Amino acid sequence: MQAPSVGGVLLPRGNGDTVRLSRGASLTDFAEKIGANPASLVQVMLNLGEMVTATQSVSDDTLQLLADEMNYTLQIVSPEEEDRELLESFDIEFGENEGGEEALVARPPVVTVMGHVDHGKTRLLDAIRKTNVVAGEAGGITQHIGAYQVATEVNGEHRAITFIDTPGHEAFTAMRARGAKSTDIAILVVAANDGVMPQTIEALNHAKAADVPIVVAVNKIDVEGADPTKVRGQLTEFGLVAEEYGGETMFVDISAKQGLNIDSLLEAVVLTADAALDLRANPEQDAQGIAIEAHLDRGRGAVATVLVQRGTLRVGDTMVVGDAYGRVRAMLDDTGNTVDEAGPSTPVLVLGLTNVPGAGDNFLVVDEDRTARQIAEKRAARERNAAFAKSRRRVSLEDLDKVLKAGEVQQLNLIIKGDASGSVEALESSLLQLDVGEDVDLRILHRGVGAVTETDVTLAAGSDAIIIGFNVRAEGRATSLAEREGVDVRYYSVIYQVIDEIEAALKGMLKPEYEEVELGTAEIREVFRSSKLGNIAGVLIRSGEVKRNTKARLLRDGKVVAENLNIEGLRRFKDDVTEIREGFEGGINLGNYNDIKIDDVIATYEMREKPRV
Ligand code: GDP
Repeated sequence: MQAPSVGGVLLPRGNGDTVRLSRGASLTDFAEKIGANPASLVQVMLNLGEMVTATQSVSDDTLQLLADEMNYTLQIVSPEEEDRELLESFDIEFGENEGGEEALVARPPVVTVMGHVDHGKTRLLDAIRKTNVVAGEAGGITQHIGAYQVATEVNGEHRAITFIDTPGHEAFTAMRARGAKSTDIAILVVAANDGVMPQTIEALNHAKAADVPIVVAVNKIDVEGADPTKVRGQLTEFGLVAEEYGGETMFVDISAKQGLNIDSLLEAVVLTADAALDLRANPEQDAQGIAIEAHLDRGRGAVATVLVQRGTLRVGDTMVVGDAYGRVRAMLDDTGNTVDEAGPSTPVLVLGLTNVPGAGDNFLVVDEDRTARQIAEKRAARERNAAFAKSRRRVSLEDLDKVLKAGEVQQLNLIIKGDASGSVEALESSLLQLDVGEDVDLRILHRGVGAVTETDVTLAAGSDAIIIGFNVRAEGRATSLAEREGVDVRYYSVIYQVIDEIEAALKGMLKPEYEEVELGTAEIREVFRSSKLGNIAGVLIRSGEVKRNTKARLLRDGKVVAENLNIEGLRRFKDDVTEIREGFEGGINLGNYNDIKIDDVIATYEMREKPRV
């Protein structure tokens, strides 16, 4: 077989050599690995019948196709694998309990509340917290730290349950997308007066995909017209069959507003956990877990709520969370009390990190500060490289446009800054789900927690990006720099508003579509020859009107004999005019085009932009 060649240039042949690429790599990344020109890989893909730009992130299948074509062995490395390899190089294993069976001790289930908007998720989380918070001094005010633990009694035993208290299931999705499984059980809230709705199904599918058992809370049973039986029937279609109908799913009828049956719901969670899951962890080892929420606090610096999944986290421990690290200076629980240690399934607010980690980032305790710093720095470097690769992509995309004249891709570059990692990630994943057709690409160059900084503005200026500030503002000289550089910085406090505006912007960026609109037709009655102007058509306007400087085509016996002509001159008697209407006579000059005959028809038209729907 011949090596693929583009424009006479032979591409490298792999001879079965292995190429390691990160999941979601682009043809440019591939080209870099094998020392080829990205444009030539684009051409190879075109020959294979796939139109891909050099910089867009492509599927595993596409990478495989390309590797096969050029005789390389492809190895796709997921971000999780990359991270595992990094930790391995420090002799650290993440995600497994140490010490085998004997070391394991039962731990509370971790629960996420999901469901359609307005079905009562927030209200339910409030109701549960109010009635059952562990410890909780008399009249003590609870803190929103992104998670809390409650105590309940089941069969005479005290049992604890941990709730993730971040709005909606966006956080759940974002965390799942990053492979950080944080939830043991999902409570699916369905309002009994509204029934199963689109986001109910979406939530249900997320839980199923993550292999998380579901307990259904049929809410708002206090409302007139509530029909809990109907909800059970509807959910049967989605494979959730109530226990009372012989299925395996527990349904509990509740009123979050009146605090009705909240205890039964908690009991159902515990029973489901006992029946379906084996929730145990080793409390003795170095702590590991995930970050649920993180933000920058004016007084306290970077604060993160972490959920301990195994081991025990203690004040004074050295930890790495994503690309943040530090020594735990203090820990607060969900009631705002300081605590010295936190065991499996316990959420705590941690102070002492160098910077703000992302929601879903894993955390682990290590022996030495130096190890923590090195892991964090390596991760940060990888993030930076990825961001750099993305911003560099734009430049090469423009070069590519010259290569690929047809089917150019336009893209909108965004930088997102927000007040908390949860909201930033929710925003990012919602934006990436926007579907505005294939011609437009949305790329998030950078996202982070905190104010809009000069660095953000510089990055935006260098890559024509728009900056979105979500519940944050610009700091220091960032505003004046943005003005000077002409960078668009937009501030929002409602997620849906961001999504609406970006969607509108993307639609605006779509190339306009034009349609042809006929303006008028003129029949040639006579042909005059002018030494200065060439042939002039003496015409009668048959329909519509003929305007100067519009497009025209020439028809002879009903067939088009010339396209793309221009009405260059238009006269009535001796006067130049701009238009002549139906029924009137005049003279038309078609510029250089002289091949006109009596009885030919000149049809004029213009291209009008089609409104998008
Ligand atoms: P979310 O969007 O799922 O978080 O829904 P919310 O918790 O914000 O609740 C939406 C609306 O329904 C609010 O006005 C709540 O007060 C109301 N609501 C929630 N639970 C109940 C309930 O059990 N009974 C009644 N009557 N109203 C409820």
